[in-house]
Order: sequence, then structure tokens, then C-alpha cells
Amino acid sequence: MQETAVQKPDSAMQPEHWYDALPRPAYASLERVPVTEDWFEVYRIQPDLYAIYEPGHFQEVISYLITGSEKALLVDTGLGMGNIRKVVEELTSLSVIVMNTHTHFDHIGGNALFDTVYAPDHPEARRRLSAGATAAELAAEVTEGSNARPWPEGFDPAHYTIAPCAFTPAPEGTVFDLGGWKLRVIDTPGHSPDSIMLAEDDRKLLFTGDTFYPAALYVALASDRPVPELLKIYQGTMALLAKEFSGYTLICSHNEPVRGGEMLGKTADALAEILAGKEPDEIGSAGLRRYEFDGFAVITR
Ligand SMILES: [Zn+2]
Repeated sequence: MQETAVQKPDSAMQPEHWYDALPRPAYASLERVPVTEDWFEVYRIQPDLYAIYEPGHFQEVISYLITGSEKALLVDTGLGMGNIRKVVEELTSLSVIVMNTHTHFDHIGGNALFDTVYAPDHPEARRRLSAGATAAELAAEVTEGSNARPWPEGFDPAHYTIAPCAFTPAPEGTVFDLGGWKLRVIDTPGHSPDSIMLAEDDRKLLFTGDTFYPAALYVALASDRPVPELLKIYQGTMALLAKEFSGYTLICSHNEPVRGGEMLGKTADALAEILAGKEPDEIGSAGLRRYEFDGFAVITR
């Protein structure tokens, strides 16, 4: 998900009473791992794979820490409101590298806390990471009702900014070998032009970023390109992914962590239906068109 900027939303409008959906049922069956930063909730998905969830903010973003035998990889760095580095250091003593699934603010918030950051090899990623985000750009994220628990200690919503960070582009095909875990970068444009996924082929896991998660999927809302063009790009990405990864488990970046690989094909079909002229189920106040499907929705301009 992402920005609610007034003129040009990239993603998530703050849904009314969003916190009524909390706690989400999937977490009841996962092992909770205690950490001292209570803005974050950490859950063990597999022995070396932790979901770092931020349920106190309507974006409900999830970052992932993977601990190999030699080093650790943090997939995204969250909202940057609480100190995710402190959380990571409580979970592992390994050296940690970061890879961003894309550069919407809610996935890069803590980037500047880390020494080694890899990012999608795309001009959009270079622009966003070099610029960071200003308080004016982030103002819509810290309004009345944005948070369902007290803000983290030391966080001042009136001065919420995201610092620029140093980073290394990681083109498609880049493999992060952590020792026992190999994560392969796949370009997956659609949700944003700079979106990537990470595949672990031995474990049959696919870290999907915002390209698929079990909620409303946003079709490159910030782009000026015509919507049908954007839908075609997203649909093409999902159709290709469905061919290769339907037998994988999806590890998603918002709301709930785990879904089956069959959702890739279902998303491809859903986008094809919209391209074929399906009527929206709802047109929101900002003119955004919402299409409902089983287990997710799609939102376009
Ligand atoms: Zn996003």
C-alpha cells in the first residue's frame, strides 16, 4: 500500500474503522516472538523467518527478517516510526543487509538505520531513496485515526519524515546468498513500476511485496500513464508469475503474511476481467475505482 497524498494517491486511502479488523485471525496460530519495541509485533513464520508487523498504523505493513547461517536479510524496513533496527538486533547478531520490494514510503521508512541497503534497479527507486519523504508528503499518514495504538516513543507525527539513504541497485537475477537461504530478485512491475519479488526456489517461497497481499491491491496510482496500460503491465506480471510460482507459498507485505500460490493466477484473472470491462463495485470520493474479488480487491484511478 502507500501514500494517501491528496492530489495523487499512490495507494491506501485510510479505510474508516480499519482497526475493527484487528487482531487479524491469522496471527493467532503463529508463534509470537517478544521484542522490547512494542510498536512492532514479531511472529515466527519458519525457524529462520520472522514477520515484523506494524499493526498500530492503518497500513499494517509487514517487513521480514531472514536469518541464514552467514548473514541476515531484512525485506523492507517498514514505516520508520518505531526503531526497526533495534527489533532486528534483538532477533539476530548476524550482519544484516536490506532489500526493498519497492520504494513506497511504508517499505523504506527504516532504510537509513542500516549500512547496507539494496534496492530495485529502477529510476523510480533511485529517485525516492535519494529524496526520502518530507513531512508534507507524509501528512496524510498521521491524521486522526491513522494509529490504533500510541505512537512509538520519540516519534512526533507532526514531524514525520523519511531520510534519504545510500543504496546499491539489485537488478533482476541478483541472488542474495545468506547461507541456507538464496533469494533471487524478479522484476514485477504493476503495483508500482519499481516493484520486485524475492524467490527462494529450494523452499518454494515467494516474497511478494505489494504486488500481491490479501487486501486491496493498488494499480500504480501515482503513474500518469493511462489506466488500461497500467492494468496490462500488472496483468502480464501476474500471468507470468502464475506460470512459475503457483506451487510456492506467498509471503505478503500487508495485513496477513501467508497465502497460497494459487492467488497469483486469481489476481491475473481478476486484472483481465477489469481490462475486459468489468464494472467497479464502488467509486470512492477521490474517484478511485474499487473492484472486489474473493480474498482481495483491486483499486485503480
Ligand atoms: Zn506499495
